[in-house]
Amino acid sequence: MLRSLLLFLSSQRRLRRWVETSQLGRKLSSRFVAGETLDDALRVSRRINSEGITLTLDHLGESVTSLDEAARARDIYLEALAAILNQNVRGNVSLKLTQFGLDLSADACRGNVAQLVEQAARLGSFVRVDMESSAYTDRTIDLVEALHAQYGSVGTVIQAYLYRSRKDIERLNARRIRIRLCTGAYLESGTVAFPRKADVDRNYVELMKLLLNEGEYPAIATHDQRIIEQTKAYAAARGIAPDRFEFQMLYGIRRDLQKQLVAAGYRMRLYVPFGEAWYPYFMRRLAERPANLFFLARNLLRR
Ligand SMILES: Cc1cc2nc3c(=O)[nH]c(=O)nc-3n(C[C@H](O)[C@H](O)[C@H](O)COP(=O)(O)OP(=O)(O)OC[C@H]3O[C@@H](n4cnc5c(N)ncnc54)[C@H](O)[C@@H]3O)c2cc1C
Repeated sequence: MLRSLLLFLSSQRRLRRWVETSQLGRKLSSRFVAGETLDDALRVSRRINSEGITLTLDHLGESVTSLDEAARARDIYLEALAAILNQNVRGNVSLKLTQFGLDLSADACRGNVAQLVEQAARLGSFVRVDMESSAYTDRTIDLVEALHAQYGSVGTVIQAYLYRSRKDIERLNARRIRIRLCTGAYLESGTVAFPRKADVDRNYVELMKLLLNEGEYPAIATHDQRIIEQTKAYAAARGIAPDRFEFQMLYGIRRDLQKQLVAAGYRMRLYVPFGEAWYPYFMRRLAERPANLFFLARNLLRR
């Protein structure tokens, strides 16, 4: 109920404008966001690398309303990829197709993403195309598949809450396309997604096994300790070495668990968002764990 309300609010543009420009909003978002500029993000990235953790930078923004905006997003990503390399940061980038113009022109979007993937291939880096709501799943997979065939250096994300995900994984595995497995963060109807968390978790574990067995360097993206333990146990039982996959988590969440995994010799990558358009991302983080609202309220009271 609260989750649905928060996810509904995450798409409200007026509220977004108001919250994003307020001092207080910025302060509260800093738990999950590395800062507003690329320099902020690179500073945080160096600290993360020094803890033995790699990262993927996400320039916040989605559902742009003009192709100029989409081109600006592409340029920031091109700059980010170059800076990662020049400053010896161990990381890559993650993007959303609606930020690259998908809702406005499929061709323009493809051209924007292609420039970035082409640069990533040249630099020996990698571009992860995040997965948005189920309205975009087909288009995302089609585009990633086409760009992968042309350049390599690109992968995507599959959400365990969707009924269709096993088929999508099989399709991408057949083409050796790298997959990040996550739960799924959008408001979806019971016609496309498991409504019960227990079913989502069960499906997550099944898909994790499929990926560890047949996937191309899969990323297991979750903060759920039980699923992480099951992943470790499954890999160990099947003789799958810890460098054949990686765990991923979001910046600002479960630092204790991140450190434990690194100390135990597992690969860990953090998703590090930066930029001014942080509101929808922030609201999805609140929706995942309404207890975060108490953290927010405590900060408000402290002021
Ligand atoms: C690296 C990465 C990339 C992602 N990319 C995508 C994407 O492309 N598309 C997409 O739809 N979703 C994406 N997600 C979000 C994902 O779908 C989930 O919404 C999110 O990870 C929460 O689910 P969970 O499995 O981690 O944990 P849950 O099963 O929700 O919770 C397990 C435990 O994790 C901790 N936890 C989880 N969320 C939070 C939080 N917000 N704040 C504090 N603690 C928390 C709590 O201890 C909780 O008990 C990504 C997640 C990660 C880690």
